[in-house]
Amino acid sequence: MSQLSIEINKYFSDKRERAERLAEQNRQKAEDAPGYKQNALRILRNHAALFGGNPDKARLQKEQESLFAERRAILQSVGLTEADTVPHYSCESCNDTGFMQDGSACRCYQQIYHRLLLSEWGLTHKPFHTFAECDRSLFPEQNYDRFIRYVHSETSPTNTVIFSGPAGTGKSFLMECMCDELEKQGKSVICIPATHLNTVFRRAEFDGDTQGVNALIHTDVLAIDDLGTEPLLTNVTREYFFNVLNERQQNGRFTFFTTNMTQNMFSEKYTERIASRLLDRNIAKFYECRFPDIRNVKRPTT
Ligand SMILES: [Zn+2]
Repeated sequence: MSQLSIEINKYFSDKRERAERLAEQNRQKAEDAPGYKQNALRILRNHAALFGGNPDKARLQKEQESLFAERRAILQSVGLTEADTVPHYSCESCNDTGFMQDGSACRCYQQIYHRLLLSEWGLTHKPFHTFAECDRSLFPEQNYDRFIRYVHSETSPTNTVIFSGPAGTGKSFLMECMCDELEKQGKSVICIPATHLNTVFRRAEFDGDTQGVNALIHTDVLAIDDLGTEPLLTNVTREYFFNVLNERQQNGRFTFFTTNMTQNMFSEKYTERIASRLLDRNIAKFYECRFPDIRNVKRPTT
């Protein structure tokens, strides 16, 4: 088992343990409340009588209802509700196991997996900027709506979006807003600076560690900031970059870039093969940002 898998397993077992421990403490507190045990015993007896063929069903049912009301009152007297006595897992889809019933990985598993990968690459996960933070007066209205529609469309033929423009035109901000919107929809997102691409590609090429490259290929949304600033490693950067892009485009996954580069510079830096993938209008959208600097908007504290 890899170190990463061990860390993830520990993350989920700690999470479950915390929820279960709290429920157990609450159950103990409930049992210590005056009258709770007697009430529980009467509920059990009544239940047995109800399902044991006792003819006086109506009376027993009524009694049971008042016993449950009494139980709620007892719990309330010690500051508890029925719900507090069962574990509350933070992910309702997988009960903090990381896996769905069919054995596939839950979204929350992917999220934590990506966060651990980022920290291995020397990056920390920060909350994304949001569309709610946008100063819409600085934002051409029709474009704002177009972006919102885009991230909410079920299927879009253009899953690759390139935000181009000089520094200070709001392109990274806008890309983060899109990532945020898609993450809120439950999609897994990886957002990294282009300068970190080689960290991932090098590990695959020289250490045989393909976890990072696979994550770049399979994450629902991949956002790469400042494409063009990364150095080119001979026989590595372009080759892995093409594979990642190709796999993602073939599978219709969202891939976003910000760049200072113009369209002509793509083929110079990345070869014609990659440039044609980035600039193919059937699958990619090249968007020139001309917004004023909207990056000074405060990052949310949550
Ligand atoms: Zn989950």
